[in-house]
This record gives sequence, C-alpha cells and structure tokens, in this order.
Amino acid sequence: MKKIIIFMTAMLMAVMMTSCGSETADSGKLKVYTSFYAMYDFAKTVGGDDIELTNIVPAGGEAHHFEPSAADMAKLSECDVFIYSGNGMEEWAEDIASTLPESVKVVETSKGLSVDESDPHVWLSIENAKSQIDAICSAFSESDSENAENYIKRTDEYKTKLDLLDEEYKNAGLSGKKLFVTHGAYGYLCRDYGMEQVALEGVQGESDPSPSQMAQVVDMIKVDGAKGIFYDPNGSDKTAAAVADEAGVLSLELCTFETDSENRDYLTVMNANLQELKKGLI
Ligand SMILES: [Zn+2]
Repeated sequence: MKKIIIFMTAMLMAVMMTSCGSETADSGKLKVYTSFYAMYDFAKTVGGDDIELTNIVPAGGEAHHFEPSAADMAKLSECDVFIYSGNGMEEWAEDIASTLPESVKVVETSKGLSVDESDPHVWLSIENAKSQIDAICSAFSESDSENAENYIKRTDEYKTKLDLLDEEYKNAGLSGKKLFVTHGAYGYLCRDYGMEQVALEGVQGESDPSPSQMAQVVDMIKVDGAKGIFYDPNGSDKTAAAVADEAGVLSLELCTFETDSENRDYLTVMNANLQELKKGLI
C-alpha cells in the first residue's frame, strides 16, 4: 500500500512538473494574431509588452490577396484574440473567422463604422483608425482584465496624439484638391479632408492601367495643375514615374500602411503622408 502511495505521489509530481514546465515555455501573456501590418501595428500600440503578438501576412507580403497556410490556420486556432480589419480587406480572414474555436475572440475592427463597401482601406481615415484601436483595446481588456488599465492608458495616449495629427491635416489646406494616385486606397482619407481621389488602378490594385487610362490621367493632371502623382512605396513606382514624366510633375510617396518595410507606426506614417501631400497639393 505504502509503495502504491509513493508511486502515485511520484506520478502526481511528474505531472505537476510537466505542466509547470510547459507554463515556463509559455509566456502566459495574451496570445494575439493579426491579419496584416496595420492591424499588427494597432495591436502593438495597445498591447505593448503585455501581449504576445504575431502577424499572419509576412513582412512585405501582399495583404489583399494573401492565402494562409495550413500551419497558419493551426496556429490561429490556438490564439486568444484574432484581429482583422474587414470590409473586404482580408477575405481569407472573414472565411476563417467562422471556423475558429470559441476560445478565440475574433475582432473585426471596422464593424460598426460607416464604410464604403467597395473600398476596404478603412484605417487610412484617422477617425476610423481611432475606432479600430478602441475595438482592439476593448477586446484585450475583456480577455485580460488584469492588464486592462495598461491597455486603456496606451490607447488614450495614442488617440490624443492622433487627434493632434488630425488637426494638422484639417489645417493643411487639402480641401477641394484632386489627389492623383496609382492605387485607389485613399477614399477615406479624401472623405475626411475634402479631397477627391483620381486613381489609375482599381481599389484592390488588381489591374494595370491601360495606355489610354494613363494618357487620360496625364491630361487631367495638366488641366488640374497638380504638382504630383502619389504611389505606395511598398509597391512599384513604375506607373507613377511614367505618368509623372509625361505630365511633368513629381512622383511622391503615400503609404497605404498595408505593409511597411521600415516597421514604422501609424502615427509616423500618417505624418510622413501629410508632408508628401503638402508637397504635391499645396
Ligand atoms: Zn490596398
């Protein structure tokens, strides 16, 4: 009998040690997965060191037409929170969301916003971005109430900075200007500051412009008197360079924040975008 008790105690200790061991390997932090770079950056801003964060689309990867691997799917089903933007930006994420186990909190950050269903680039409006950050903050605070104070503090501080940048945009004299772009990603930015977007490529960036489309835009630029055409530096600058050359204007960078080769945060990128807009429009 004594032998059996000793054996069982040893077994129990082994089990306890194994589970303690696995906990040491596990950070114990909230495990968060995001769909693409903008969502990754928002989650990083809100979560800081309190979360373990992974982005699904690899650095430099194309966010619109991404297909997750079986390994991605398996990892996703084990996380605590999965964040995506929605409104047609990541169709794969919308498909996967319904198949994930109930233990995964799924956050579609554009939900409830006033959106144009044909334009997924919701986060390029600072107002929208603030709501998306709020949605992330609520999800983290609910899933990890111990650190809720930290999440709320970081969110409030960041939103204050975004409000200041929003004021700068409003005072930059952008209203009434035509914004000539290669990738039609800036509909929400234009809506917020009274600009009108003229895009060479479709909203999803699928089709290359035809020579006649390019010639039409060159004419429009000349008539409008704009000083530049804008392109996303994370994509190709070929089309913008050709149009700029033909129209005798500048080709300027305007980041979509779908990815960022320098790992900059949203505030930095939106500030850089404003400086480029001033060069091309004012
Ligand atoms: Zn895009």
